[in-house]
Amino acid sequence: MKKNNDIKNKLFELLNNESFTSKFISGIAGDRIQNDKEKELFEKLLLETGGDLYVKLLFYITHQIFDIEKAKMLWDEIINHKEYLSKTLKRNVEITVAALDYLTNIKDEIKNPKLIGEAFIGKIAEITSVDPLTKLFNRHYLYVKMDEEIKRFKRYNTTFSILFIDIDNFKHVNDTYGHQQGDEVLKKLSSIINNSLRDLDICARYGGEEFIIILPHTDINLAKEIAERIRSGVENYFSGNIKITISIGLSNCPTSATTKKNLIKQADNALYISKNKGKNRVTIK
Ligand code: GH3
Ligand code: MG
Ligand code: MG
Repeated sequence: MKKNNDIKNKLFELLNNESFTSKFISGIAGDRIQNDKEKELFEKLLLETGGDLYVKLLFYITHQIFDIEKAKMLWDEIINHKEYLSKTLKRNVEITVAALDYLTNIKDEIKNPKLIGEAFIGKIAEITSVDPLTKLFNRHYLYVKMDEEIKRFKRYNTTFSILFIDIDNFKHVNDTYGHQQGDEVLKKLSSIINNSLRDLDICARYGGEEFIIILPHTDINLAKEIAERIRSGVENYFSGNIKITISIGLSNCPTSATTKKNLIKQADNALYISKNKGKNRVTIK
């Protein structure tokens, strides 16, 4: 189970890593000539991640996780195999084809391989990371991203904040206007919140009418300003027939907590205070 989650997490990590592309990997493998920038990036990644780079390269190609020593060994063997195949066939055999032949026919490392295009993988990533109603990220993706932020904090001491948002009296909206209208409100509200965020911020639907936002590189004071802007934006937009307000709780890494579970708990506690004080407000934990 743990391994399964690791695979998913690595998949997300790689799919969201702009430097890790098929083009970059084919450059490393010698299918095409690397430009200076790519060479520099490769050296940098090798220095930063060490043998883990080969784990990632193989994961990108096979979606299997090999341990560090094995990954480095297999990578070298695949490159040799690629050269051998290219010489024999008198044309370049590219890295994915060589890896497939080597790992299935020679090493027996991959069972029942399937041929799928990168676009399809992208679609799978979307299905597993995006909430279909609101088009926001889902809880699974949120956890992956929070883990990444915590890792960044531990390594570089960078701060980040999270907002826990809950719609006020949403049951009443459903009871008054019907569930379908409730869904429309959820959709609109999600796009309002999402549009008010910066590119690097992550907005996820945590549960029914609850959202969590990760604000990277954001201290608690800036987070409060952002939360206040979102709160008033929602209140102003839904000030006509259907009145909607939201309550928000805030927590910060490292000032409130430094684990995913506790950061969410602290933000949830702060949200609870916002509700108790009369809703439509922001509270810091
Ligand atoms: P509070 O201000 O204390 O948060 O009150 P509330 O009514 O928002 O809270 P409560 O937890 O009692 O109700 C949440 C409601 O959200 C109940 C549920 O029907 C509604 N809800 C959750 N998910 C969805 C959804 O996907 N669509 C619609 N239309 N309603 C949903
Ligand atoms: Mg709720
Ligand atoms: Mg609610």
